[in-house]
Amino acid sequence: ERKKLKRLRSTRANTLDGTTIELQANIEMPHDVPEAKENGATGVGLFRSEFLFLNRDSLPGEEEQFEAYRAVAEGMDGLPVTIRTFDLGADKQIKGAERVASNPALGLRAIRLCLAEPQLFQTQLRALLRASVYGNVKILVPMLSSISEINQTLQFIEMTKRQLDDQGIPFNRTVPIGGMIEIPAAALALNVFVKKLDFLSIGTNDLIQYTLAIDRTDEEVAHLYDPLHPAILYLLAHIIGTANKAGVPISVCGEMAGELSYTRLLLGFGLRQFSMQAGQLLGVKQRVLTTSVPDIVPLVQKILRSDDPLKIRDLLNKLNSL
Ligand code: PEP
Ligand code: MG
Repeated sequence: ERKKLKRLRSTRANTLDGTTIELQANIEMPHDVPEAKENGATGVGLFRSEFLFLNRDSLPGEEEQFEAYRAVAEGMDGLPVTIRTFDLGADKQIKGAERVASNPALGLRAIRLCLAEPQLFQTQLRALLRASVYGNVKILVPMLSSISEINQTLQFIEMTKRQLDDQGIPFNRTVPIGGMIEIPAAALALNVFVKKLDFLSIGTNDLIQYTLAIDRTDEEVAHLYDPLHPAILYLLAHIIGTANKAGVPISVCGEMAGELSYTRLLLGFGLRQFSMQAGQLLGVKQRVLTTSVPDIVPLVQKILRSDDPLKIRDLLNKLNSL
């Protein structure tokens, strides 16, 4: 079976009706690039850069980060490389700078931490911008929740660009800046995000955690963590539909993107770009190749109109056996 899948490596992920789907890889370190390519990734949809910080005693400096980002940009041969700025805090703490939060998932994490630690953020942005001339680099910002955070982040990036200019250091002036949609408030007030950002990526892991108020790391409530909750389906359809209407590229990079049972559901919502663990890419591609978008849309609409969990599961099974 695995061998059969391997043959799909360089097949384009086109649906039966000829819609091209981008299937990209999530990576944690530069050494993950070969596996992404072996599995036919058409880009890196999520480089979780905070992994450069974990399991060590010192912070990675600008040079070390630059080398890591450049290695991925060059390694992907001009394909898009979406690098997420540090998503630290909560469950991922920096050694020596641990912060005590009574509720870490709702505390100073991701972009909040970056804006609170400008030195840390600026070092990363310099490294990212410098690496942007070595490939097709995009910058993705996690956990944005409001217009003021978007504005502060964009201003911060502009300031870093001016600094590089003053020093005569080259960078791609039009490097796309995107935001993760993983907080319900961002999903519900999406208009400002589509206006200000070049692309969006849905972090379903956190979006589900925050929408359902289920700590994603707490096993006691793991059984309540439900990607098929009507509220989640509504939000996903809303985000994807709004972004498509505005012409802003939208992808899903949370675990839902790599789950075969959700591929058709997401395609039916209008999703055309998925990012997942490399090992899931070929299976999802096979599912894409056997799907006709016009054929699945009526069932997906029905799922979206249903508020009965059992009915939703029943309809999803039907959708997946079409
Ligand atoms: C997510 O929240 O879905 C996501 C992709 O980011 P992470 O899992 O790293 O929080
Ligand atoms: Mg997240």
